[in-house]
Formats: sequence, C-alpha cells, structure tokens
Amino acid sequence: MRLLSALAFGTLMLPLAAYANDPNSYAQPDQVRVTHLDLELTIDFPRKQLDGQATLKLDWKNPKAQSLVLDTRDLKIAKVEALAADGKTTPLKYALAPRDKVLGSKLTIAAPKHPAQVRIVYTTSPEASGLQWLTPAQTADKKLPFMFSQSESIHARSWVPLQDSPAIRFTYDARVTAPKDVRVVMSAINDAKHPLDGVFAFRQPHPIPSYLLAISAGDLAVKETGPRSAVYAEPSVVDKAAHEFEDTEKLIAATETLYGPYAWDRYDILVLPPSFPFGGMENPNMTFATPTVLVGDKSLVSLVSHELAHSWSGNLVTSAAWRDIWLNEGFTTYVQGRITEAVYGKALADEEALLSARALQKSIGAMAANAQKLAPDPRGIGADDALSDVAYDKGSWFLRTLEQRFGRDHFDAYLKGYFRHFAFQSITTEQMLDYMRPNLIGKYPGKMSWDEVKAWVYGEGIPQDAPLPDSPRFNAIDRERTDFLAGTLAADKLDAKGWNTQEWMYFLDRLPDVAPLDKLQQLDAAWRLTGTPNAEIGMRWYSHAIAAGDKSVWAAAAEHMTRIGRIYLTTPLYKAFVKTPEGLAYAEQVYAEARAGYHPLTQQVVEGILAKARKAK
Ligand SMILES: [Zn+2]
Repeated sequence: MRLLSALAFGTLMLPLAAYANDPNSYAQPDQVRVTHLDLELTIDFPRKQLDGQATLKLDWKNPKAQSLVLDTRDLKIAKVEALAADGKTTPLKYALAPRDKVLGSKLTIAAPKHPAQVRIVYTTSPEASGLQWLTPAQTADKKLPFMFSQSESIHARSWVPLQDSPAIRFTYDARVTAPKDVRVVMSAINDAKHPLDGVFAFRQPHPIPSYLLAISAGDLAVKETGPRSAVYAEPSVVDKAAHEFEDTEKLIAATETLYGPYAWDRYDILVLPPSFPFGGMENPNMTFATPTVLVGDKSLVSLVSHELAHSWSGNLVTSAAWRDIWLNEGFTTYVQGRITEAVYGKALADEEALLSARALQKSIGAMAANAQKLAPDPRGIGADDALSDVAYDKGSWFLRTLEQRFGRDHFDAYLKGYFRHFAFQSITTEQMLDYMRPNLIGKYPGKMSWDEVKAWVYGEGIPQDAPLPDSPRFNAIDRERTDFLAGTLAADKLDAKGWNTQEWMYFLDRLPDVAPLDKLQQLDAAWRLTGTPNAEIGMRWYSHAIAAGDKSVWAAAAEHMTRIGRIYLTTPLYKAFVKTPEGLAYAEQVYAEARAGYHPLTQQVVEGILAKARKAK
C-alpha cells in the first residue's frame, strides 16, 4: 500500500487475543487452515451489498479440532454447510459472536467431522468497512455506479468470511454476477477483452493472504500499456492514465533485472475515483491506484514503482502479522527507490529518499516509543496503525544503510536470494533476521554488527549514523528558501520554473510550521499555488496557508478536501483547520458536504480529528 503519512486512526489498542502470532484475527491456523476459496458473488448496487457464498477448502491440522473459526465483520450469515467430496451438503451449526469494535464477529462453525470443504452463504452490509459504493454522481463520468474493495489491513472479513490473517495463504476462484453494462475486475488474471455480459470469472493460482483479496466494478474502459500490462479506468480517464503509466513495462523489466522474474504473469493497474483512501494498493495482478497521481508529467509514477515492487516484497514474501508490516512496506519503499533510479535516474530517486527521510526525522520524535520501532511490541499496536511512516521510511532507510555498508553488488544478490528463499511464504521479522544473520551480516564480517541491526529493528528513533543521500538540487532549494524567508530573495525571483513535483514538495515541506502570512501571499502571487491541480503540492500549500491564517485560500482548500478522499492528501487540511475555533467550525461544515463521497476509512480518520479538536475546545 502507498500511504505516505502517519494515519491518525486513533489508538486502536488491541486486546491480546489467545493467538499470539496474530492478535488481529480470531483464526486458529494451528487447528485448521484454509487453502482455497471458491467465491460466488452478485453485486447489488441499489442495495450496496454483495450476496453470495464462500466455499473454503480446509487442511485440518489438529485431529482433535472441533471447529472452524473465521473472521467476519457485519456479515449476515444465511447458512453454513459441509461439502463432501461427492458434492453432498450437510448443514453445520454455527455461532456468530457479538461484534468486537476492532476485530468484528468471530464465527465459530462446529465441524468435528473435519469436512474437506465448508460453504458459507452470506450477504455483506452496506456499511462494510472494506467496500465503498459510489453513486454515478460520485464518479468521473457520472453514468454508472461504482464499487471497490480495500481489504488491507483487516477489512477482507467485511466482505468474505475467512481466516483474515496475513499468515494464512490460499488460492481462489471467483464467479461474479453484475449488471450488464458494468466491468468487474479482481486481484487475479483479468481478461481485458471480456465482453460486458454480466458474468465474470477469475482465478488466482498463487496462494495469497486475505488482505490481497480485491474486487471492483464500474464503468471501466481498458487500454494496453505493454505486452503484459494495461490500465483500467473510467472512459474519460483511461487515455490520461495510459499516458501517465506508459513506462509500466520498463518498470517491470527493471525490477526483474534486479530481483528476478515477475511471478504473477500480468500487471494491470486500475485507476479508481478520487475517493480511494490510499495512494495505491498492490492487489495481485491489478494494482488499485488513486487518480491523484495523474498529473500529466509522470512525476508521481513512483506510486506504480511502489505497487509493482510489492509483487516481490509483500505479495511474494509477506509479513506474517501486522506488527511485521515493515517487511512489506520498508522493503517495498527501498525497491521502489531502486526502480525509480533504474528508469528515471539517481537524482529523482535521491530526492524521493530525502523527502521521506526528512519527513520522518521531523515526525518520529512525537510518536509513542513503541510506534518508533520497526518491529514494535504487538500488544501496543493496531492493524491499521502499524502502517505508519516508520514501517515505510525507517524500514527503507535501514535497507539503504545495509546497501551502503555491504555494497550494492552484495546487497542486491542478498535481496534477490531473500525473495527466492521465502517466495509465497508469510514470515515474521525474526524469520527475516534468522536468514539475514548468516546470509549477509555473518557472510561479510566487519560491515555491520548484530547490535547495529537490532538497534535498527527493535530500537526507537533513527540511528545517529543513518546515511542520507545528497541532492544538489535540494541543497539549492534549501538555500533559496532561506534567502526567501530572510527577505533577500523575492518570491518571483525563486528559480522555481523548472521545479518538479518533488522539488516543490521539498520547498514547502521545510517552510516553518507557521510561516509569515506576507511571505506566503507573495509566494502565491508569484507562483499561483492556490487552485493547483497537483494534489501533492496543494495539500502542502493549503496546510501552510491555513496555518498562517490566510482565509483567502479557504474555499479552494475546501474544494480540494471535497474532491479528494485520499487520507494522506486530505486529512492534513482538516488538521490545519481545527487549530482555531473558526477553522474547526469551517472544517465541520466542509466535512458535512464531503462525507458522503469519502471512503469509510477516510470518514473514520476525519471524524477522529474533528472529535479530538472538539474535545480540546
Ligand atoms: Zn506499500
């Protein structure tokens, strides 16, 4: 997933369930494991629900096991039955526990005879936390309704009853019925030429964890971008998307050169409406992406590098629990940088690494001690909270440090071997370390001590000697910013004409938290930042202008907040507004308008910010 900023999900402190390996799931994989899912779904747009059945193939581990325990959230269960090898069905008794706020409802199915397959017939709730339903008015082309899933972290359980833990992998087949004018896609091989006949079939032949289960349906056009890649988007967006992502094959090829063959066959990208709460989601074979990266100059294509990198780090080698999520995100952010360097050059890769490192340096000190650790104590961290800047940016910084110490040749060979060794497995931080010790640290003595490794993985903060890339262009921007703030360089004399998105981000990121109002107004007059179509720049600009008390940007900021539901690009504006009573009142008003277009996850974050501010008043 691509987030780019700490999620203020509130503190979802989890009760440490009996299952020490994944406190975020009721599943009991030591008793029985799901190995395959057969899914039959009907998409009901008017009711905002999926109706259907999930048939789970089971591998019973404990001969004495009495039941199959599944994760669910807000599912209406109609029937549970055992399926014999000859297709004969027998009803099974089951109990659905009261809903836990974080984990959902534990579904316990009595199955002392250990059936080979169990079928659950069910319906999802219109409020399913892992699904968003959009009316035609909320889409770009306003013709048809749209729906999509976001299963990471623990939201698959809101649309499929299953063992919702990344430690458990299964293959799946799906048959989805939809209105005839709609195209359905899933995290499996998709057929770009499939007619719009209302019935779509999918097969994911590789074992994947539940958070990579994904579905979307809507008015989708398709355009090829290479021999094994295409973009799916609403008709009015598809050409722009195909242009922005035209380097996809180059990116795949560059990653294969570094880390071995792409294991998943096709790599397609689905561009979602602007309410998609994240930057991207690495659903296998079909990355789900925000339209906010379609800025016309490919400057935000690192999002594709990131999601593509997950085809190795995350989808191939998966963190076994949410506490280990840095194995997905830290490794992926590192690989993303290497892909960017290979295709777009070292200068851009260094800029992106510096942007994230500087942001982390600024934010990490304010985090709780446990949250500063790559591998935190799982008792103090929720599944969604684990996806923080630390997992991404401290994780990738650690890997860049390893690369620097061991040399690129040795480290590349090591990482390639790591992906091969753990392919299609879910592993813990400790399993990664057990592999690293003999295969990297011990193999090349004197480069890095084991204590240093432990300090990176289990320590707080950022180690003192963590290396930073050098960017001459960023250095020049630092000088210009200083001169501009000192009044020795006028806003219109800034050498900003050729600045790319990252350079604007860097300039704005390092302005004082509350910059002088007159300076910001001069900046806006010279460079017309208010109303920018580039949401990365807009998010930073409006945050500064609001903090400085510039009410003239409020309407444009509100437009940004209403148009974009991506958590990372929208919530900083809420945070800036709520600092004053008048701003809080305005933010409440904006939210009342924007809420219906937001994803449930975005709603949750914004409501958290507003509630906290109201309380502090
Ligand atoms: Zn990611």
